[in-house]
Parts: sequence; structure tokens; C-alpha cells
Amino acid sequence: MNSFFISNSYFYSAEWASNHPLAISRQAKFYDLCQILGWLPKEKILQCNGLNQEKIAEIHDYNYVIILKKASSGINLDQETRLKYNIGNFENPIFTGIYERAAASVGGSVAAANAVMNGGTAFHPAGGTHHGKRDKASGFCYFNDPIFAIKTFIDNGFSRIAYVDLDAHHGDGVEEYFKNDDRVFISSIHEENRWPHTGKLDDNKKGRIINIPVSAGINDDEYNLIINALYINVCKFAPQAVVITAGADCLNGDPLSKMEISNIAFWNAVQKFCSLAPSRVVLGGGGYNPWTVSRAWSGLWAKLNGYEIPDILPSEIKEMFSAMSCDLIDDDEINPVWLNTIADQENHGDIRTHFIDLSDKIRAFAE
Ligand SMILES: [Zn+2]
Repeated sequence: MNSFFISNSYFYSAEWASNHPLAISRQAKFYDLCQILGWLPKEKILQCNGLNQEKIAEIHDYNYVIILKKASSGINLDQETRLKYNIGNFENPIFTGIYERAAASVGGSVAAANAVMNGGTAFHPAGGTHHGKRDKASGFCYFNDPIFAIKTFIDNGFSRIAYVDLDAHHGDGVEEYFKNDDRVFISSIHEENRWPHTGKLDDNKKGRIINIPVSAGINDDEYNLIINALYINVCKFAPQAVVITAGADCLNGDPLSKMEISNIAFWNAVQKFCSLAPSRVVLGGGGYNPWTVSRAWSGLWAKLNGYEIPDILPSEIKEMFSAMSCDLIDDDEINPVWLNTIADQENHGDIRTHFIDLSDKIRAFAE
């Protein structure tokens, strides 16, 4: 089956200030890793263009689009404007090229959906900006590219698209946009009691919206139980296309979440949902540990293409990994496994009772 890796030079060059969680140049490192392993043959790389402002304004408020563009070119914004659009602060900083990067991110989602319209898998690791709101930025997300991927399928006549959000944070922007659209099945597995504090189990709508807040410390066995319960629901919806936000902040070792699943459980989950529709778009998302993100997404790309994942990494990659650093992770917290391999050890453990109850509730939504 066709597979595509969505790329654009802006993804590897944008400059986040050094104190920001996204200052870890994770896209560039991950791209280098895949290149070194020979996993990016030319025919699989799909260069995407930035979406033009009129197209972006089909989802986002036009004034917001223009303001972000101006700010990105160096024009200073007054405080009222920054507050109104939630930009120019620590959470959503303004720097040169941020508009172009955000426009390329949504352009990548449109390109990804178009590439697989007749079947196939497109991986857009710089996508997954699931918090972006219609008229403001939120949670490091300026525009909302998953919405564009879903909308591209809708514009091409698809009437059943399943959205599965595996990022540790609730996919609030996507849910908000499609909550009244019966063509879209919306689901999100995220850590409970974590920002943005939406996506409660009570918010669910049978057969259409399934939010699964999970407790901190979730292990692979608990995760698999939940994945299987959600799978039954997505299966029942019988999607023509799936759009998956594969945020890597749900992995053990991420500094911004306390979910503890291995990348093996993560890959299995993505593959499971991919198996449910011929057209698949897999997006990136969060992920703030540069080692676990690079390993999770490169391994995911390998799994989606049937590449064999080496047990031990080539020395060039080990050196690259040893040279990386992250302000949010102390040196003594760096797990040696992160420096030497791609696949984690599976994180098996007891299944806590409340996970069994949660799984039963999710399963009941499919009945
Ligand atoms: Zn996240």
C-alpha cells in the first residue's frame, strides 16, 4: 500500500526560544534518524506547501490568520491583540517564520489526506496541532491541522471519518470543531486532571464522541485494555478514513505527562486503528523528550512501512543521541535504553480495578 512521509523545510528550522518545551528540534533529529536508517527513500517523501491564507480562513478566523502572519514577519503586536489571540506569550510565542511553519503544518495535513484519498497511509509528524482554536492559538498550536485533514476527506465526499487522538492531552480543538458533525467520530485517550482539563468521560456521546481520561502511571496492559475497548467503537462506526494524532507525550519518560506506556504499545495502537480504514492519516502531536519522541516516531514509520527495527542502533545515531540534551530532563534521568535502541521494553503491570470499569463503560458505548 502507498505510504508517504510529509515534509517541509520549515519543520526543521523554526526557532523556539530555548526555555520552551518545543525548543528541542525534535523534528530535525527524528528526520535525521530515519535518513541514517535508510527509511526515507525519495519516492516516499511528499513535500507539502504552506496553505494559503484564504484556505486557512475556511477554518480559522480571517483576522487571526492575518495577525499571526504580520506578527511572524516581525510586526509588534499590542497587548490587547496578544491577549485576544493568545499569542506572543510563553505558551504560544511569536518568532520569525511561525506563520509559515503553522501554514505548512496545515498544508501538510491537506496534502496527507489528498495523497491517501484512494487508499494508503500518510505520516505527517509535524502535524497534530490539536489544540488550535478557530480564532486563537492554544497549547503550542497556532492552527489546527487535524481539522484540515478531516475536512479534506469531507470535501471529497467522505461521510465517515474516525479521529483517534492518542496524545497525552485532550484533543479539545478538534472536538470543539466537529462536535455537531455526524460524519466525524471523535475520540481521545488522555491523562486525566491534565491541561486543558476537558474531555471528561461524562462528555461522551454514544457512537460519536468518546473521551477516555486515564490515570497517571498507566502501563501497557491497562493501555491495551482501553485501546481494545475504543477499537470496538471505531470498528462499529466503519470509517472510510482514519485520522490519528499520535502525540508521543503519552510515552514513559515524557516530562509533560505521567502516562507510562512503552513505544511498543503505542505502535500497536496506531496500527490497530490504521487497520480499520483504507485511507489513513497519521499525525505527530506532543512529545517533549527528544529521545523518546525520535524513537517512537521513527519506529512508528518503520512499522507503517514494514521496515525492520534494529535491536542496536548504529554508532552514528548513538552519538547523535548522546549529544542531545533537554532542559526538562536531568542527566541522571536519561534512561540508557533511550541512547541505544529504538524499541522500549514493554511496560507490563497489574491492571488496576478502575481500568476494568473504564473499559466496560467504553465497551458499552458500542452496544
Ligand atoms: Zn500533548
